Amino acid sequence: RAQGLTKTYHMGDVQVRALRGVDLALERGELVVVLGPSGSGKSTLLNILGGLDVPSSGQVFYGGEDLSRADDAALTRFRREHVGFVFQFYNLIASLTARENVAVVTEIARHPLAPEEALALVGLTARLDHFPAQLSGGEQQRVAIARAIAKRPAVLLCDEPTGALDSATGVRVLQALEQVNAEMGATTVIITHNADIARMASRVLWMQDGQIVREQRNATRQQAASLQW
Ligand code: ATP
Ligand code: MG
Repeated sequence: RAQGLTKTYHMGDVQVRALRGVDLALERGELVVVLGPSGSGKSTLLNILGGLDVPSSGQVFYGGEDLSRADDAALTRFRREHVGFVFQFYNLIASLTARENVAVVTEIARHPLAPEEALALVGLTARLDHFPAQLSGGEQQRVAIARAIAKRPAVLLCDEPTGALDSATGVRVLQALEQVNAEMGATTVIITHNADIARMASRVLWMQDGQIVREQRNATRQQAASLQW
């Protein structure tokens, strides 16, 4: 739950007010899509929700804990134990296979999925021993999703996960995220420019100039059909 979040970046004499008072309560298991123009504060908000950054003012609560007051060690623990991140450019380790990229996370998690299980959830059972350079962009992003979900995070935060993919591949990656959300129940936030995913969301938020300017709940959320990879 975020309350009154502001974030101002100071660049010498210039101040950029990236967030101007954001209130947001995420419900367990929901899939929230965030839309909004470039520079409207989407990534800033996601980074603060995930404990990668701290607000200038306002608070973020997770369970009973006020993350905006947490020290670095507590924030790191929060991220490591509870949050999975998926970014636009996958950030896979080039010298490790798909299975090994996922294992990097499962080795330090408390109740992880096996790497093979996580990769099966995103349809990559046939690519376990491929290196990133031997995978398509969509497959690399699915490895990144498998890595993010392998520790069974309570919260899955995705910043333009399809930004580097063609639209057909992007839709399938979004479907994979929807399926993972449905099967694992992780509370999922997806920043995207792909309005198609909004159909699958339980809630869509629009950001503009550092604020949430519109919100729509989706009572008739469409579940992704069983995926055929
Ligand atoms: P995009 O769709 O282009 O990714 P966004 O909605 O994610 O945009 P943010 O990255 O949150 O936007 O940026 C919001 C504003 O804050 C922008 O004006 C940006 O220039 C500024 N900003 C973001 N990060 C920093 C930073 N580390 N230092 C200074 N200014 C920043
Ligand atoms: Mg962004």
